[in-house]
Amino acid sequence: MSHFEHDATLVQSDPAIAKLIDAEVVRQRDGLELIASENFTSRAVLQAMGSCLTNKYAEGYPGKRYYGGCEVVDQVEQLAIDRVKQLYGVAHANVQPHSGVQANFCAYMALMPPGETILGMSLPHGGHLSHGTSVSHTGQVWKSQAYGVVPETGLMDYDQIREQAKQVKPRLIIAGGSAYARIIDFAAFRSIADEVGAFFLVDMAHIAGLVAGGVHPSPIPHAHITTSTTHKTLRGPRGGLILCHAEHAKAVDKSVFPGGQGGPLEHVIAGKAVAFGEALGDDFKKYAAQTVANAKVLAAALVDRGFAIVSGGTDTHLMLVDLRAKGLTGKEAEKVLGQAGITVNKNTIPNDPQSPFVTSGIRVGTPALTTRGMGAAEMVRIAALMDTALTQRDDATLARVKHDVESLASGFPLYPSYVPMA
Ligand SMILES: *Cc1c(COP(=O)(O)O)cnc(C)c1O
Repeated sequence: MSHFEHDATLVQSDPAIAKLIDAEVVRQRDGLELIASENFTSRAVLQAMGSCLTNKYAEGYPGKRYYGGCEVVDQVEQLAIDRVKQLYGVAHANVQPHSGVQANFCAYMALMPPGETILGMSLPHGGHLSHGTSVSHTGQVWKSQAYGVVPETGLMDYDQIREQAKQVKPRLIIAGGSAYARIIDFAAFRSIADEVGAFFLVDMAHIAGLVAGGVHPSPIPHAHITTSTTHKTLRGPRGGLILCHAEHAKAVDKSVFPGGQGGPLEHVIAGKAVAFGEALGDDFKKYAAQTVANAKVLAAALVDRGFAIVSGGTDTHLMLVDLRAKGLTGKEAEKVLGQAGITVNKNTIPNDPQSPFVTSGIRVGTPALTTRGMGAAEMVRIAALMDTALTQRDDATLARVKHDVESLASGFPLYPSYVPMA
């Protein structure tokens, strides 16, 4: 049934892919995963995703399908819906979006026709491509304007955003991003939206697990629609999600199907149901709290070693490290750390003098390592390893750090019962 048991099916039918899956398990296991948008799902989630539910066409929604034979997948999808509604205390949930970007596109379409104006957070200040940037269809179908953070503080200034909203007169205001490390004041955003007659959408892709675990305020009472991914801090399978109040339920469902997608991925929806079930438990609350505690310790330890953190620290699972004082670009840092077995991504900092392909920063996050069981002591050790790698950068040092990384990682086994296939 899965690669956690002795089963030679895949290696016999396709040894090339079996070998590559084995190699990826080893890569994930031996390194330190600090990419803020990644996590490790449970084996239960993997097993649900690897199931025969992938064979089923189920266009429509539970009880209202365009195909026969949906009596089982109806129950799967209904469980996912019921659990996520309970998790966030929300009236309506659509669990079909294939990804976060799909969820956003369908949510925007549910709220407004093409040609209207979106006001979202600027990408180089921590927003997301799908919030109306020119390279995304969202910036081609709708007009868009961006608000940023105050460069000196790295924080949003809600009075400034209010003034901008009055000028821009958007139909939709979006809060939420991919690299903003501080608590977002959703009530302030909603009052701005109300003042200018705009809808308010929160994209909680990054913080969904923190909201579920009660360590970040919930956007649900404030936003007309909340979108999310399910694979970041929420620790489910790769996918998307739309939550809303009853008044937008019909429009959201029509926008996802038939508007933006065809048949739902019921195997992934089963994985989402498993993850939502896990997130409803007390262990997940501890996990969310530890993820934030670890990020605070890691940020402070990096500051102790002379690194600058945008906004001075973090309230969440991630931080943006400004490398200018260290004489490094984000691109160089990503490469050097990668050679040492530490995975991060380069990221623009507010008003970055470098291009998005080079950048002056890296984004660092704790969700994945916290899932492995690491705590404050490990975060202090990781800051030291990062500092050594980034300061010295010679091959011998990087080999030594990589060795230390592997020994640290081996103390926190990932998927210990995985049976190599090849
Ligand atoms: C990751 C992310 C997305 C995109 O999710 P995909 O599943 O990659 O499409 C959308 N919005 C925000 C804020 C994100 O961080």
